[in-house]
Amino acid sequence: MRSSETPKDEIRKAITVLDQELFNHNQWMDTLQMTLVCRLRPDNRDLDQDAHRHCRFGQWYYSEGGQHFRSNQNFVELEAAHKAMHERATALLCLSMEHEDISVAEYEQFLHEQRRMRLQMETLKHELEDEAFNLDALTGAFSRSGMLTRLREQQSLVKRGLETCVIVMMDIDHFKLVNDNHGHSAGDRVLAAFAKHVMSHTRPFDRLFRYGGEEFLLCAPHTDLEMAHEMIERIRSELEQLAIENNGDAKLHITASFGMALLDPDLPVVDSIDRADNATYAAKWAGRNRVMLWEPSMTEAEKSAAAE
Ligand code: GH3
Ligand code: MG
Ligand code: MG
Repeated sequence: MRSSETPKDEIRKAITVLDQELFNHNQWMDTLQMTLVCRLRPDNRDLDQDAHRHCRFGQWYYSEGGQHFRSNQNFVELEAAHKAMHERATALLCLSMEHEDISVAEYEQFLHEQRRMRLQMETLKHELEDEAFNLDALTGAFSRSGMLTRLREQQSLVKRGLETCVIVMMDIDHFKLVNDNHGHSAGDRVLAAFAKHVMSHTRPFDRLFRYGGEEFLLCAPHTDLEMAHEMIERIRSELEQLAIENNGDAKLHITASFGMALLDPDLPVVDSIDRADNATYAAKWAGRNRVMLWEPSMTEAEKSAAAE
């Protein structure tokens, strides 16, 4: 992903590419059929062994922008379907050029591959549209609406012993002062910069949700507390150094407090969120700008003391 773009930009671009490709694919099918029926000279690009890399869709798929989606299962599966379709098309065109007959079975196999490819392309497009709909417009983080569902999905993997998952609550320190001292628009810029900073330091399958105004929740699967702690500590220390652009005015600086907890397999997910939240309150209480791991002693009493 290019650093100037948010994931939302990448998702929008991918939806546009998929839309165009679904349209282009119909035209390509028409041309291919005419080439076969009328025995025209095929387009050299369709005869190439790597035809799937050279078509417009392939160019996007194998580009930096496309690779942003490599953790998406539909995106991954689309590669095999798209390649198989091109291979079948190339084989048909070669038979046609050599004036060989094309059997019904060979043609049906091609049709089968192209339908499979089309279905997968449409599925990926719908999935990305849902994702774009679920993104918070200001920050590009996921909105809270799909958060519990996502956490429950992760929890079922934890229950089956397939992974551990860490949740991290993040709360910008003294954010109200940014609004009070620099205005609400500056506050908005800080929120967007914070989310971008976190997302650029996390892995493709980590998911950042905007939990509330200046509070974010990170769901980090396939990791344990130690690894997650290292990642969050790096996010915290680099945030401290970050100079946030403010429309040409003096750059802004912020810190944040972080609370971490394992996603517990045996508790409702909201209880694990509460644990991460309690750890964040403990971090505030201990002086802000720090990362705290949840422990049972982080009681409600500490939470209310920090809120005072
Ligand atoms: P603490 O260090 O204890 O977290 O203090 P804080 O000032 O960050 O926390 P507090 O809860 O007192 O203030 C949060 C502020 O965030 C209040 C609210 O006006 C502001 N806020 C919430 N959503 C938005 C938003 O979308 N844009 C802007 N600019 N401000 C927002
Ligand atoms: Mg807060
Ligand atoms: Mg705050």
